[in-house]
Amino acid sequence: MSIKLPSSLKSLLSITALLICSPLSVVAENCVVRDFLELPLTQSIDPMQTALEIAYPGLNLDPTRSLVEFPDGTRLNFRGARRVTADKRLEHSTLGDQFHYTYPLGFTLTERKQLYFDPGRIRWEQFFRSLYFETRNEARRSLSRVTYTGTSSQAVFNATKKYCVHVQLRSVLEEIAAYGPAMDVYFEKSGGSFNWRVIAGTNRLSTHSFGIAVDLNTQLGKYWRWDGGKPGSVGPFANEIPFEIVSAFERRGFIWGGKWYHYDGMHFEYRPELILYSRLMAQNDRRPIVHAIRMTD
Ligand SMILES: [Zn+2]
Repeated sequence: MSIKLPSSLKSLLSITALLICSPLSVVAENCVVRDFLELPLTQSIDPMQTALEIAYPGLNLDPTRSLVEFPDGTRLNFRGARRVTADKRLEHSTLGDQFHYTYPLGFTLTERKQLYFDPGRIRWEQFFRSLYFETRNEARRSLSRVTYTGTSSQAVFNATKKYCVHVQLRSVLEEIAAYGPAMDVYFEKSGGSFNWRVIAGTNRLSTHSFGIAVDLNTQLGKYWRWDGGKPGSVGPFANEIPFEIVSAFERRGFIWGGKWYHYDGMHFEYRPELILYSRLMAQNDRRPIVHAIRMTD
């Protein structure tokens, strides 16, 4: 015997069945939360290509033709790493230059003592404009509000929905909040998130422009310029950001500015390719991963 159901009820039932069958990590925006520290990786002969293609689904790199193709079909010719001075590499970067320094996955903060060791701070601007947005309005339309809900405080960040950055950020903030009230202080006096602007003292567009960066408490997360540093001449970094926060961000693909010679201890930005690249390089025995040790300098 078959039961006749009204079509609206039928479709409601099929949607419910779909939701029940879906894995829990799949959310409404068709995003799956990814763990970039654990995601399985196979050996790669071209770690830069592998890291970029896994980090940004739909992006393709053709190293033989020096061509990068973005998910919307845009193509750019890219250049590899160059032998230039550190300040030139920073001012006018190529795609290859972005991988000049391997982002360290440990928490020793020793690598940053090397002059200009700024993995992630080197950015080929057109790459990011093509990957994300060319204009402020495009970027604004893509934003989603993501909230840190602590025991005694809340903080709201605006993150882009592109490449599911907002979902990755939501997962970071949930993990941190679960550590309890001691974490709340880092989210007070937050330095903000989306802001279409250039980096202080430069003409280079900040990654805050794309909704992929967040700044925590500006008084606890130190910044080299505010501490009297000059480009290429920065003193010691008295870090106050705990390992648990850094680790939660890195797991979801965000790098931390506290690991840079030109340190920015409040700053986290979505750069999963650098975390994957670091793992691939370690896998290829080109540089060991220093495992997490709680230490500051
Ligand atoms: Zn920032």
